[in-house]
Amino acid sequence: MQIRQPIVVVLGHVDSGKTSLLDRIRGTGVQGREAGGITQHIGASFLPTETIKETCGPLYKKLQESENQVPGILVIDTPGHEVFTNLRARGGSAADIAILVVDVNRGFQPQTNESLKILQSRKVPFVVALNKCDQISGWRKSDTKFITQAIKEQDQFIQTDLDQKIYDVVGTLSVLGYQSEAFYRVKDFKSEIAIVPISARSGVGIPELLAVLVGLTQQYLQKRLDQKEKESRGIVLEVNEEIGLGHTANIILIDGSIKKTDTIVVAKRDSVIITKPKAILLPKPLDEMRDPRDKFKPVQSVDAAAGLKIASPDLEGVLPGSTLYIASNEDDVKKYTKLIESEMKSVFIDTETN
Ligand code: GDP
Repeated sequence: MQIRQPIVVVLGHVDSGKTSLLDRIRGTGVQGREAGGITQHIGASFLPTETIKETCGPLYKKLQESENQVPGILVIDTPGHEVFTNLRARGGSAADIAILVVDVNRGFQPQTNESLKILQSRKVPFVVALNKCDQISGWRKSDTKFITQAIKEQDQFIQTDLDQKIYDVVGTLSVLGYQSEAFYRVKDFKSEIAIVPISARSGVGIPELLAVLVGLTQQYLQKRLDQKEKESRGIVLEVNEEIGLGHTANIILIDGSIKKTDTIVVAKRDSVIITKPKAILLPKPLDEMRDPRDKFKPVQSVDAAAGLKIASPDLEGVLPGSTLYIASNEDDVKKYTKLIESEMKSVFIDTETN
């Protein structure tokens, strides 16, 4: 099996700490210098296994027991509903797993419920990050990055208070039809949603959150992540006109690979566009960036999962959320053209019936 990295999204109510959590996860990589650190993609950040290993420390041992280890995680940089909605892919989502951020002192809020509904309708598994633990009244700051350890260092009444807050979330989720538990009490990760107390501000709980994410994807998403016999496809996140590049599309490559010599097949309003990329671009590493206007570097090929930019004049007018197929021969071009035509019909029926 060749397993690709899972695509991770962050959802939750405004001010619950989604952006802070993303910054913290990316910061984790920046600090992990020798371990390969993190690679900036277009619209996403890649945390390689080495970085996760370094962050998770002894927790990582268990993850290594899996036969099919993921090579890291690809985290979508923009949190929230909008980008998630665009990540729609054939009856489901391009996102493999989500982090639902909940403010520990506020519990479920309107957009938490909304996020949950979207996750439910797209059948995306998720973990709950119970954020801002450092704001629990009386919480004692400690040096450890492991939440299980930090909890042990709290006074008994704080531990009880945190448990109460966890059970509030468990109760709310149970009304909505989900079984859930604090991750350290979960017996079966397949049937129970893991709740991981964290602080995006102090970083406590991030190792456990990453370990739970990686553990879940390795154990339950193997088929989805296995690259054998997968068609090469991606999702368009945005289309722009850029100085020096012309029309470009930022895409998340979900499966397979894209080469400069490949043909792209994508829907535009009521027609199918067949085009060759003028360039495939990735962000230029900071140390190679001499001129700040010169932000991208052309590459010959990219493997999934990845965030990249394609330049091609034909991409003008392609809508965000469109699925883009990558064909390496004429037969595939024909196959994908047919597929898109049938998808366009079903979208039409969808909107008619809804
Ligand atoms: P978003 O709207 O969900 O992206 O939330 P932000 O990440 O912008 O965070 C909202 C506010 O909460 C900001 O002022 C953050 O500094 C603060 N915040 C986020 N995470 C934490 C945390 O773990 N602890 C504390 N004390 N504040 C946090």
